[in-house]
Amino acid sequence: MPCEHDVLEKLTAHESIPPKTPRLNASLGHGPLALLNDEPAFEQPVYITRALVPDERVFMAYMRSVFKSRQFTNNGDFVRELEARLRTHLQVGFCAAFCNGTTATQAALRSLDLSGEVISTPFTFPATIHAIHWCGLTPVFADIDPRSYNLDPTATRQAITDRTAAVVPVHCFGNPCDVVAFDEIAGEHGLKIVYDAAHAFGVRYRDRPIGVWGDLSVLSFHATKVFHTAEGGAVVGADIEKYARLSMLRNFAIINEDEVLGIGVNGKMSEIHAAIGLAIFDNATREYRLRGQLSAHYRQRLREIDGVVVQRPVADATLNHAYFPIEIDERRFGLSRDEVNQALRAENIFARKYFFPLCSENEAYRRHPSSDPARLPNAHRLASRILCLPIYGALGLDGINRIIDSLEAIREAAPRIRRHLRNAGP
Ligand SMILES: *Cc1c(COP(=O)(O)O)cnc(C)c1O
Repeated sequence: MPCEHDVLEKLTAHESIPPKTPRLNASLGHGPLALLNDEPAFEQPVYITRALVPDERVFMAYMRSVFKSRQFTNNGDFVRELEARLRTHLQVGFCAAFCNGTTATQAALRSLDLSGEVISTPFTFPATIHAIHWCGLTPVFADIDPRSYNLDPTATRQAITDRTAAVVPVHCFGNPCDVVAFDEIAGEHGLKIVYDAAHAFGVRYRDRPIGVWGDLSVLSFHATKVFHTAEGGAVVGADIEKYARLSMLRNFAIINEDEVLGIGVNGKMSEIHAAIGLAIFDNATREYRLRGQLSAHYRQRLREIDGVVVQRPVADATLNHAYFPIEIDERRFGLSRDEVNQALRAENIFARKYFFPLCSENEAYRRHPSSDPARLPNAHRLASRILCLPIYGALGLDGINRIIDSLEAIREAAPRIRRHLRNAGP
């Protein structure tokens, strides 16, 4: 099961790992290939992302203010300030901060008073589908588009029944969904659209911010995301009228001292989490720019490696480059995705199989008729080929070059690596 949260545990341990003693073993004489006993490309493990850290003095100034006022939570000044800054930065009508993206998704769905089925993608982080299920709704899977990796509008149309209430598409790896098609589907069938925009902070499409499409969009500010508050999330949208309901739902559905209306949750963001967000706000913009340069470099050099396919960016979009997914075409590369992943690990490069396994393979959802692999051929094919490579500003071009050099060396030595892995056994 993919878990971004265990990446973070490793991230925090990152600085304290002692460098590996270099092993000098060039006996195979084919350049640097750690799997075959040469030195690894990196002395310390490199993970797919590295959390931004606030300036300590700035963060402590916020903390002193919290300690003085003793307002740690309950819609304090810092949460409201963060909401205002996000509203401006993301150019949305409103922003309601939450304790995490999963709870924000549940509140977003609950705020729309839905019942029945919700169509979504199997190629996503488990949270998307769990949130639908926790709201008492039935997740129904439809296949993805093999180029954008996003929920396919045609497959979505085919999955609509008289029980369908909403669609939850995911802007996968920050690549915008076909929002125009989903608008049409919503209009024709009277459905609600809630975007999982956990990967799409700051993304724009057709000259409009991503958060204004559909009924609502949900962001995650988990520490593995490009902008974060350690744990956190938000519901955003164009229509400010929706803010009051969400803000009530995240606070136990309390209206005032005398009234509680409906089924709320504790979804509040604390002042401490909001302060992390405020303290790193400006670094996040710089981080996208750096990642953009690294992403362009990856793209340019990976074109030369036969058997590596790069996600095709949607036209007319401004991306945040938060992830760098590639596909391994086993026939052309000479190794399967899992074999490439193992060889990269030996180089201390910890790529991730996002999103494998598919959500439709989860024991809780696999018996639903829509989970039948025969109906989800594109998602199954992609899940067996996908690999997210490390991308974060501090890696620099040097780091990216070393990762690409490793991939090239692995491809050249593919038959030897395959023999080595098969002899080592599973
Ligand atoms: C991170 C993520 C979430 C969940 O967000 P949390 O803030 O960790 O609850 C939901 N969907 C996707 C696609 C994600 O990547």
